[in-house]
Amino acid sequence: MNTLKQNFYAVQSQIHQAEIACERNKNSVKLLAVSKTKPVKMIAELYELGQRDFGENYLQETLAKQQQLTDLKINWHFIGPIQSNKTKAIANHFSWVHSVDRFKIAKRLSEQRPCHLPPLNICLQVNISHEISKSGLSLTELPELIEKIKGLDNICLRGVMAIPAPETIYELQCAPYRKLHQAVIALKNSELDTFSFGMTGDLKAAIAEGSTLVRIGTALFEKRIRN
Ligand SMILES: *Cc1c(COP(=O)(O)O)cnc(C)c1O
Repeated sequence: MNTLKQNFYAVQSQIHQAEIACERNKNSVKLLAVSKTKPVKMIAELYELGQRDFGENYLQETLAKQQQLTDLKINWHFIGPIQSNKTKAIANHFSWVHSVDRFKIAKRLSEQRPCHLPPLNICLQVNISHEISKSGLSLTELPELIEKIKGLDNICLRGVMAIPAPETIYELQCAPYRKLHQAVIALKNSELDTFSFGMTGDLKAAIAEGSTLVRIGTALFEKRIRN
């Protein structure tokens, strides 16, 4: 078996193990393959193995890849920072956007979403480790932004995304996800069914704290040294 295939099965198995260990329902956590900087050949190979959801950070790179993969029914997720001048292309070429952090961007995505496409699924990126990143809104701003977004026709608000500060200790990995998960549950809004939590380094903690979608790059695409 080649490395990519091995990695794919290993990641799927890690997700299933975590679902069991955390008493989550089977298949309640979706795998988003983060293919930024990776060649289309690898995307096609994962597609062949059954993977349909791919995450990308860079618009121009994604558009180039999409042109080479037109035959595949891929669900493209935009997960990188968004500048206003990119919203039109994003609204046209993706089915999900995880990194919306202000009303202006949500409004433009809604206005620029073509009518022949279903509403664009979006997550709001919440910054729960302020010192690390400038992207993301604060938890205190979240309820107000959710209310404002309700009036936008062509986007469908699905949940939240977070990239906490990297931690190696399990409990420290859990804490920010737990806080955000509880805050969203407290809003009692059943439309918010997506928690885009977890990357290669903190997949298990994210799943323990309610992740419904893990965004995995390194564990899938990089060669690892196996003892
Ligand atoms: C690159 C990236 C990932 C994947 O991270 P890995 O640690 O390689 O699994 C996930 N989310 C976002 C927003 C990213 O930019």
